[in-house]
Amino acid sequence: MKFDILTLFPEMFVGPFDASIIKRGRDKQLIDIALHNIRDYATDKHQVTDDTPYGGGAGMVMKVEPMAACIEAVKTLQPASRVVMTSPQGRRLTHAVASELAVLPGLIIICGRYEGIDERIRELYIEEDISLGDFVLSGGEIAAMTIVDAVTRLIPGVLGSEESALTDSFCDGLLEYPQYTRPTDFRGLKVPEILLSGNHALIRKWRRRESLRRTRALRPDLLAGFELNKEDRKLLAELEREDDTTFG
Ligand code: SAH
Repeated sequence: MKFDILTLFPEMFVGPFDASIIKRGRDKQLIDIALHNIRDYATDKHQVTDDTPYGGGAGMVMKVEPMAACIEAVKTLQPASRVVMTSPQGRRLTHAVASELAVLPGLIIICGRYEGIDERIRELYIEEDISLGDFVLSGGEIAAMTIVDAVTRLIPGVLGSEESALTDSFCDGLLEYPQYTRPTDFRGLKVPEILLSGNHALIRKWRRRESLRRTRALRPDLLAGFELNKEDRKLLAELEREDDTTFG
């Protein structure tokens, strides 16, 4: 998968893209990331990329010409890629959205700065706005890194089998169960016996129950939209009975 990132601050990406999973994806040539400096497409002497907003008010707006030239140059090289704008006004990035993006041939991700882009850029080129959440970042760079990371780990072959994305939170609609590693006793806090039992059927069931318990406690909204199987319904009924004995 090809990621093209359009930014005024390409230097921000050094580091996050050169370590761990993203580095491995690049080394295995499962992903390819290209950074494009929007400033390189400003043709005036001072390579100006921002200007004051029409109508007045605070802040600056990214100029339309350098951004348009940059998008057009990249789009010519990657005609099949989807053009995505990072924006607090966009569709919230979730596991479902990342999975949808992970099957595309490529993404052209635009990082806004200042007050954002000239609206005509959106009209002409943007296929989708994506948001990290209901807060405002200073720029789209960290959002672009987040999109690349969340999408990359879903591309087959990027994660090793030992770190499969399949059991991660949200993947099957539930939060992941609690995890433990050595030692079995840390300051009197013990690892649940069942995880040491070697009984895989019981371990699977325990994990399912704990997934349901967590999701029910922390994200009841996820559980509401989740299709429960027979075992889940039984486990949830048990959890409810536990509540009754604890609180009742
Ligand atoms: N004036 C804009 C915010 C601009 S913030 C507004 O009120 O909607 C500057 C840039 O940071 C944006 O163009 C966008 O690229 C990025 N950004 C800010 N918050 C973001 C968020 N929650 N998710 C993704 N990108 C965001």
